[in-house]
Amino acid sequence: TTPAPVLTVNGIEVIYNHVILVLKGVSLQLGEGQIAAILGGNGAGKTTTLRAISNLLKGERGEVTKGSIELRGERIENLTPADLVKRGVVQVMEGRHCFAHLTIEENLLTGAYTRKDKGEIAANLDKVYTYFPRLKTRRTSQAAYTSGGEQQMCAIGRALMANPSVVLLDEPSMGLAPQIVEEVFEIVKDLNQKEKVSFLIAEQNTNMALRYANYGYIMESGRIVMDGAADDLRNNEDVKEFYLGMG
Ligand code: ATP
Repeated sequence: TTPAPVLTVNGIEVIYNHVILVLKGVSLQLGEGQIAAILGGNGAGKTTTLRAISNLLKGERGEVTKGSIELRGERIENLTPADLVKRGVVQVMEGRHCFAHLTIEENLLTGAYTRKDKGEIAANLDKVYTYFPRLKTRRTSQAAYTSGGEQQMCAIGRALMANPSVVLLDEPSMGLAPQIVEEVFEIVKDLNQKEKVSFLIAEQNTNMALRYANYGYIMESGRIVMDGAADDLRNNEDVKEFYLGMG
């Protein structure tokens, strides 16, 4: 049985700078408690799709001009990014964006900015450290002096400090060695299974993403050109030929 969708994107169009049509009617769903992957090459529109969902396009002079976005059946395209965080939808941006001069622990604590209860925040920090033991050993290190993998873990850990039910994860594999990518995806899977966090992951590394996702969407030039269960996509001849070498 397919789980009910936690997130539904219905035919969205996105235009940058009032003229550049980048998303040309994108529809997708993320099932409750699932991992879905948005796949495709550079410039396909993966980041734009995630930023449309988390309402982060304004800073990029982009806007959703058609379509709708729903969180458990409720329209969310007019909520601010901060309201979305309070509703449990958090984005981890591409390129990691840890604060270089803060320690790992200080970075994690910035993720709890929408919350007040100190006891809950401390418990959440402990939980992040149980999933990311590497971050615990590096907790007093300045982020600038940690590895790329640790910074990616820090960025995900910081998102988890908002206690989200949906995490939008942009290109977690970027710039990381294959075994570190695997380590990050294993932790994502663990969080998905034990904490019931749903993940929508934009990835160029098709092979890795389809090993961990339940469902995949392949994007090209602002459109979804193929979608299916991750195992079906992995065994699809076109996907093998055009996408599995990537990333
Ligand atoms: P990448 O993996 O490189 O991030 P992507 O699939 O995430 O690729 P997007 O970043 O969403 O793709 O970009 C989609 C298209 O939109 C590209 O053609 C890009 O040049 C264009 N684009 C992205 N941001 C802007 C912007 N702020 N203004 C104008 N065009 C933009």
